[in-house]
Amino acid sequence: MADLALPDAPDAPGVADDGVWLHCIECGRDHAPFDDIIYTCPDCGGLLEARYDRYPTFDGFDGRGVWRYNVALPFEAGVTLPEGDTPLHRVPRLRESIGVRNLRIKHEGMNPTGSFKDRGMTVGVRVAEELGVDRLACASTGNTSAALAAYGARAGLQTLVLLPAGKVAAGKIAQASLHGARILEVDGNFDACLDIVQGLADRGEAYLLNSLNPFRLEGQKTIGLEILEAFRDDHGRFPDRIVLPVGNAGNTAALYKCFRELVAGGDLAEEDVPKLTGVQAEGAAPMVEAIEEGLEDTRRWEHVETIATAIRIGNPVNAPKALPGIRATGGTAVSVSDSGITAAQRDLAEEGVGVEPASAASVAGLRKLREEGVVDADEDVVCLTTGHLLKDPDAAAAAGSDPEPVANSTEAVLEHLAE
Ligand SMILES: *Cc1c(COP(=O)(O)O)cnc(C)c1O
Ligand SMILES: [Zn+2]
Repeated sequence: MADLALPDAPDAPGVADDGVWLHCIECGRDHAPFDDIIYTCPDCGGLLEARYDRYPTFDGFDGRGVWRYNVALPFEAGVTLPEGDTPLHRVPRLRESIGVRNLRIKHEGMNPTGSFKDRGMTVGVRVAEELGVDRLACASTGNTSAALAAYGARAGLQTLVLLPAGKVAAGKIAQASLHGARILEVDGNFDACLDIVQGLADRGEAYLLNSLNPFRLEGQKTIGLEILEAFRDDHGRFPDRIVLPVGNAGNTAALYKCFRELVAGGDLAEEDVPKLTGVQAEGAAPMVEAIEEGLEDTRRWEHVETIATAIRIGNPVNAPKALPGIRATGGTAVSVSDSGITAAQRDLAEEGVGVEPASAASVAGLRKLREEGVVDADEDVVCLTTGHLLKDPDAAAAAGSDPEPVANSTEAVLEHLAE
């Protein structure tokens, strides 16, 4: 069983480098962070997490964006475009229609390549520089490949991405392509792509920048830090609940780590930790199954399908980190239909917030949990929207209304409008 407890007074082990090391959540052994390239524990294969000889506090943050939080990160600065500092929208009509005290939308689609993956990549690519690698790689449902391609280009490194053929939204492939990634389309789903790219990384062919890489999650912690700071500034307290779409469960794991570190540092009371609430599509819901059945890890779903291609994942690699987070914070996990996702995408669009389908899953899940009475009317809720509308122009066009052909004259247009 994974042990995610943080020590009260962290003592750097001998393997630490400048107060940073990697800790195995399964066997508890510590490893040097930047000597050999490791993604999982060399002793037991367990997931690793970055540990520090210090904990962050709110008064230690300075500047803007991801690197504002550098006291909580392994380096002071990194390859930046810049990322983070995304809006926390108010959506009054949607709040009213769902029926909660406060509803804010943390729109991660406003990052430089249009998804939260940029936050992980700015840190991950900085680590790659430290390790001296020359080729970066990832498996991706699309957004990781777009971020990897852009940040890799910025750093002057080669990039290789493996994508499930026919299942990646157009905007994302266009980004990876223009930013110069070598794109391999695999006849299989995301999970198969990840198996292959892990094989390449194990053979030393490339540096793996999927969320299995613990440093990616360090960057993604900053979503939680931004939410807590901004929500407290506006409302004088922290939100009760954060609802987010779940694919590989990297963000769920990252938010939980953010909260654990703030609690250990003394700036967040245990009872103020927001309830982590994960949302998956009905056709790809192994995390929901694991929560409902009380499993320690997910069962791999071989066949997954959903309009929300960014979360079309059957084997969430970060489940051993994320499941304890959902449970320990008193959260839950819920699955939503594709039609519910599209309806939520329209609801957000009506408030001026344009998101891709996977992002809208968070709002669809909140609505469902509110209807079921799992979420109370007096809760303060933040929904995470993970990617921008233009990522998946086909889904957006299908969810919106059709253009109307008209003749080429003002008279004809007036007549058409009057119909
Ligand atoms: C990557 C991604 C997700 C899934 O996030 P995980 O951290 O893998 O759970 C959700 N939505 C979008 C738009 C993404 O790009
Ligand atoms: Zn181990």
